[in-house]
Amino acid sequence: MRRTKIVATLGPATNTPEAIEAVIRAGVDVVRLNFSHGTHEEHAARAELVRELAKKAGRVVGILGDLQGPKLRIARFKDGKITLQPGDPFILDAELANDAGTQERVGLGYKELIHDVKAGDELWLDDGRIVLEITAVQGSEIHTRAVNGGVLSNNKGLNRRGGGLSAAALTDKDKEDIAAASSIGVDFLAVSFPRSADDIHEARRLAVEAGSKAAIVAKMERAETMEDATRDEIILASDVIMIARGDLGVEIGDAKLPRAQKCLISRARTLNRAVITATQMMETMTDNPIPTRAEVFDVANAVIDGTDAVMLSGETATGKHPALVVQTMANICKEAETSIETRKSGHRMEDRFERMDEAIAMATMYTANHMGVRAIATLTESGSTPLWMSRISSGIPIYALTSTDAAARRVSMYRGVYPVKLHEPLKDPKIANRQAVELMMDEGIVEEGDLVIITKGDLMGIKGGTNQLKILRVGEHQNG
Ligand code: PGA
Ligand code: MN
Repeated sequence: MRRTKIVATLGPATNTPEAIEAVIRAGVDVVRLNFSHGTHEEHAARAELVRELAKKAGRVVGILGDLQGPKLRIARFKDGKITLQPGDPFILDAELANDAGTQERVGLGYKELIHDVKAGDELWLDDGRIVLEITAVQGSEIHTRAVNGGVLSNNKGLNRRGGGLSAAALTDKDKEDIAAASSIGVDFLAVSFPRSADDIHEARRLAVEAGSKAAIVAKMERAETMEDATRDEIILASDVIMIARGDLGVEIGDAKLPRAQKCLISRARTLNRAVITATQMMETMTDNPIPTRAEVFDVANAVIDGTDAVMLSGETATGKHPALVVQTMANICKEAETSIETRKSGHRMEDRFERMDEAIAMATMYTANHMGVRAIATLTESGSTPLWMSRISSGIPIYALTSTDAAARRVSMYRGVYPVKLHEPLKDPKIANRQAVELMMDEGIVEEGDLVIITKGDLMGIKGGTNQLKILRVGEHQNG
């Protein structure tokens, strides 16, 4: 069984019921709806299909809504695109009409950019495919010279090397999208380009006001949020972080990405948050039926670094082989998970625990990792006990038994945690152990003679009430 989770972006290549069913059956755990593209109606229809087809396939699949955020973009060209040669002068003109771009100049989606940049800055367009060096800022015009050339087409993204552009994280469009995401009922809501913990709190407040209980995902993609204190504050404000390697790579320089990835994964796990590693993981499979060796290593290394999930973007949204890329990625994860680094843990050995449920989660993992347990079953209504458990590296599966769909879908992001949806809560603690064991036997998870650990609370169905850890052998004294 694979422990690392797979997030797949839906798009034109995954629009039909057949295509969505195929990626779900290939092993997708969470689908991503990218609010940078498409209408609310399209996202709602996709979400509906995902829920229906997941049910049909007997799988739990979470839904992540990804807000566009203040992604800076150039406007459009009269002819759709131009070609720049190295050394060509080129002007970004805040006053130019949105579709009046020419070989000499183009408009700007974000007019305030002129106040944020100065001569000598480097602007990276289209994820760094085009680099422009600023020679002067004059009135509404940013004068530049192309450092490298290539085709530049409509609405391409724009970053400044080194980061520090000041746009607020939640745009008016994002605010509308939060309302739409809430009515769609997304399980995860991703905030793009947050600058601080406040941006995450603000997104959460807006989501809650719109009636959503979605987990908030902070996309780490600004250079200034990699500074130690800001980074940790953002991680703690969120439920999940995403290592958004596309924009982050442009801002800090690609060479710094591997270290940033390892640091972010380690900090997220230490601070009890989940983490997604994203962007270009299987890029060449957008067109090709096999990945490059470098991509195989990239996915495997993220697994060994301890990521909860690996993400696919264009590969499944617009690529030629959406189901195949999911399958291929799943195989790489499974193989990487056999390496010993992914199974032992020194996590929080010296820590104190303030909460009973947290202490139970830690004790469970310590016992499981040292005793040859077959499976862990945790009765949970909030998903927090399995989250704590899964911060400890282990090869032992953690089954999250829950009666709420929301908790089942939330834990679908956590490494090594498998949601089991109960038809009704196991209410009576006296017989809950027996019921849990019977359920795991029915599902083929355990058999007679296996050791299992069950955690639960005295008052079941109460959030945060876990206070019991029971070790038992399947077939023996299962009551109480
Ligand atoms: P995006 O985020 O795909 O929304 O840009 C991920 C990234 O920047 O890597
Ligand atoms: Mn991004």
